[in-house]
Amino acid sequence: MSTKYVFVTGGVASSLGKGIIASSLAKLLQARGYKVTNQKLDPYINIDPGTLNPYEHGECYVTDDGAETDLDLGHYERFTGCPTSQANNITTGRIYQNVINKERRGDYLGKTVQIVPHITDEIKRNIKLLGAKGEYDVVITEIGGTVGDIESLPFIEAVRQLRWELGEKSVLIHLTLVPYLSATGELKTKPTQHSVKALQEEGLQPDILVLRTEHELNNDLRKKVALFCNVTPEAVIQSVDVSTIYEVPLRMRDEKLDEIVLERLGLPLNSEPDLEDWIKFLYKLKNYSKEVRIGLVGKYVELHDAYKSIVEAFIHAGAINDCKVNIVWLHSEELTQENAEAKLKNLHGILVAPGFGHRGINGKLLAIEYARTHNIPFFGICLGMQMAVIEFARNVLHLEGADSTEMAAKTPYPVIDLMESQHDVTEKGGTMRLGAYNCELKEGSKAFEAYGQKFIRERHRHRYEFNNKYKDKFEQAGMVTTGVNPETGLTEIIEIPKLKWFVGVQFHPEYKSTVTKPHPLFIAFIKACLS
Ligand code: GLN
Repeated sequence: MSTKYVFVTGGVASSLGKGIIASSLAKLLQARGYKVTNQKLDPYINIDPGTLNPYEHGECYVTDDGAETDLDLGHYERFTGCPTSQANNITTGRIYQNVINKERRGDYLGKTVQIVPHITDEIKRNIKLLGAKGEYDVVITEIGGTVGDIESLPFIEAVRQLRWELGEKSVLIHLTLVPYLSATGELKTKPTQHSVKALQEEGLQPDILVLRTEHELNNDLRKKVALFCNVTPEAVIQSVDVSTIYEVPLRMRDEKLDEIVLERLGLPLNSEPDLEDWIKFLYKLKNYSKEVRIGLVGKYVELHDAYKSIVEAFIHAGAINDCKVNIVWLHSEELTQENAEAKLKNLHGILVAPGFGHRGINGKLLAIEYARTHNIPFFGICLGMQMAVIEFARNVLHLEGADSTEMAAKTPYPVIDLMESQHDVTEKGGTMRLGAYNCELKEGSKAFEAYGQKFIRERHRHRYEFNNKYKDKFEQAGMVTTGVNPETGLTEIIEIPKLKWFVGVQFHPEYKSTVTKPHPLFIAFIKACLS
């Protein structure tokens, strides 16, 4: 079967949840037996979000193949359980870079290189690339930004051309907002009408409208929108605010989004979607019998999206443990010797988050010392693991001034040091140790117990690593290496076995947690917090 394409655009306002709608549709089609993948086109000039400050763009999500991508790819994976790759996230920057490289190579020799057709051709090539693999029945491509933005124009134009070429093989879903005016008690459709007009001015006619709303839409309102926007009334779908994003696939099922899309694509409905696992998960999520408080220590805690995958991993692993995880957000810059006890004493567990640079480091070290000396379950991820090593070096091994060379280049005890392979790296973009690597676990360790297997593969995003020169010293004093990269010997996991649960991982387990496969380490950490 040749691949069909679904495009998702947005209007009226940003942050309406295009990514969640696209992920929910993917889930529903998958539950009907279709092979689906999600793609995100981001209209910014950065080649990828790897160099972006999390305050700007939230978390940078990393795929198995080492692509640094938009956090929506995390939703795609969490909803469908299917790994994404570099091909699933394309930015304006990457499109221009490819075109300019071709121009320099002489591929367009003699021609003036222009937005139409050269940039739009490159966008179309990248959309069709996923379909060309022959692995997918449907590719769902989400166009970042809001219709009418200058930035997204070439993407919209490429979609217009592609829809013309694909004919029946594509569907366009446009997501808008229906605001509620409390003064008059009315839901207003005018912004939706304007947004569809803007799309029409750019040559695109949506097939389906998904209206984000705080209140249920009645039939009259749906008919009115249908009439003004050239769509059928069944194709006007509401997306009412819900308490968890994981509810959205079921709401979209109620609205028959999957059926309308398949009908328009000329694909059979197959069987009813099999959502048994999903419904079970939702039930557990809402009917928990226990609660824990876990301190999340980081320097971007004002913006929860900066730790998106960690938050979601807690939701998945909490549900499977019949437990609600209450995250206590702790700003590492605000943790001091004086207030540490007060801020940390009521926690069931402490997670120290990934990060870069020295801001907030002391707060992280204080939280780790508290966890270690009070036997509170501790989970350190990437920088969080590195900080656990430094804390142990300073306070247990008494290596005064022990540090990471990232924070103190001239430390007398570089217990965390730049990886050999990083010494000659000068460019910042895409040059870290990125993507999935093998790791061998030590039998009998907490990690081994959690995974229940000896060999695992996890995703990385860092430049520094545990300095194996100090390994024996650490092990003699009680901090042991329990996960090693079998190819390079790099230390991937450290533990303090005599404590209840003290685990630091150099990789990012949070990227691989999904609704139907919560991450083993998050499950085990919550179990330890509950015991
Ligand atoms: N800054 C650290 C490094 O580059 C940790 C990175 C991270 O937490 N992702 O090694």
